[in-house]
Amino acid sequence: MSAGIGTEQNPLRVAIVGSGPAGFYAAGQLLTAKDLHAEVEMFDKLATPWGLVRAGVAPDHPNIKAVTRVYEKTAKREGFRFHGNVEVGKDVSHEELAAHHHAVIYATGSPTDRRLGIPGEDLAGSHAATEFVAWYNGHPDYRDLEFDLSPKRAVVIGNGNVALDVARMLALTNDELGKTDIADHALEALASSGVEEIVVLGRRGPLQAAYTNPELKELGEMADADVIVDPDEARLDALSQEEFDSGEIDKTSRVNVETVQEYAARAPHGYPRRIVLRFLVSPVEILGDDRVTGVRVVRNRLEKSPDGRLVARATDETEDIECGIVLRSVGYRGEPFAGLPFDERRNTLNNESGRITDPESGDPLPGVYTAGWIKRGPSGVIGTNKKCAQETVNALLEDLAAGKLPEPSAEVDSLIEVLHERHPDVVDYAGWELIDEHERGLGEPHGRPRVKLTRAEELLDVAGSARLARAKK
Ligand code: NAP
Repeated sequence: MSAGIGTEQNPLRVAIVGSGPAGFYAAGQLLTAKDLHAEVEMFDKLATPWGLVRAGVAPDHPNIKAVTRVYEKTAKREGFRFHGNVEVGKDVSHEELAAHHHAVIYATGSPTDRRLGIPGEDLAGSHAATEFVAWYNGHPDYRDLEFDLSPKRAVVIGNGNVALDVARMLALTNDELGKTDIADHALEALASSGVEEIVVLGRRGPLQAAYTNPELKELGEMADADVIVDPDEARLDALSQEEFDSGEIDKTSRVNVETVQEYAARAPHGYPRRIVLRFLVSPVEILGDDRVTGVRVVRNRLEKSPDGRLVARATDETEDIECGIVLRSVGYRGEPFAGLPFDERRNTLNNESGRITDPESGDPLPGVYTAGWIKRGPSGVIGTNKKCAQETVNALLEDLAAGKLPEPSAEVDSLIEVLHERHPDVVDYAGWELIDEHERGLGEPHGRPRVKLTRAEELLDVAGSARLARAKK
């Protein structure tokens, strides 16, 4: 029973797994909840916090990354502790977390990519965009991947913001990239890139594109790249035009259509690089014997499905697009985690409004919650996670009030002690601050926000002084 929990004498103890936006919003909401004393232990597999804000947001979008200021404020609140370089499921089990806390929130995101399921998908030169993104952002697990950027044409499959991010990264000039916090290995590789044309493939039309207005508009303002759209493909098909004219579409879709049509009407500047936006084409095969030589696409037409959505239907018209590199950008995918119930259809933890539930009975697992992409799937922008985390925190606090949270069987500190004995390289928040300061210091002389450390050993080395100070205490 959870009576009397949440007071100064008996604070609500919550473990949060994952230090991305959803984890940090949940932590902030718990630590600032009215009339509640809470303590949050946050665990992350990496030595560094911020999840996709560090490893996903494009390096040329520093304004989006500024959101970490909010998370820094949370990290400074009394009752918050960070334990980086700790893999839940390996260094510490779910059962251990559950035994030492009133509640555990999983905010672990969607670590892999959705597959296309077409021949040639695994040929050399065909990569998941999620991996390319993690590589250029210096994620230690991806820093040794190799991308052959010598081909003249790259094809990006998908019509979401990630597709536009990777297209833009391939088209930015060295000068533009050199001012960002892109990982040094990627800066070097992109500096000698031979890519001149980036073709972005949308399986539906401009009205159904998943990207947002600022990201599409940025393509039209690049220093050294033209954006090219064939007027025939920019024109809406009859069904989409009907939707567009009905006035019932959202503003994002309307402005996307207008922007694509404006690009189609533009005369190219003749810049050295081109981003070509294609519509109503689906990849059916990635071509090549031992490495990518092209993509075979089929032309689609749109049909109304029974639920009213316009879906792509293949015609028998195909086309081969020659290229030497393919980036498959058709979405991230969640994975089963720590033996928790998993919804195989949605690729999320099985949950209802953030309460992890038993798939058979539908009953909530007492004290186990989820937030962010592993709760709802890989959609929305960073701010979407605030609302998502709040729903989860509300469910947790309702369960607290209803006396439904299990009583932990041991003190948190005993778990942290055991963890440090088992795994001396745990990086606490002071360790992260040393890394942060070090990276910013490396960037400063070059006018860059930071130069990221991308090897786990380097990160642990720099965080080491914090560990030593902790050991002396
Ligand atoms: P996304 O927005 O879900 O877009 C996935 C795209 O892949 C859609 O265009 C989808 O087309 C297409 N697709 C799916 N299966 C396909 C197939 N078999 N063949 C061809 N195309 C296929 O995913 P995302 O781009 O990975 O982005 C993930 C989330 O992060 C999104 O919410 C995004 O807005 C967000 N994000 C935001 C920013 C930013 O704010 N700057 C940057 C990056 C990411 P259909 O629509 O036809 O299914």
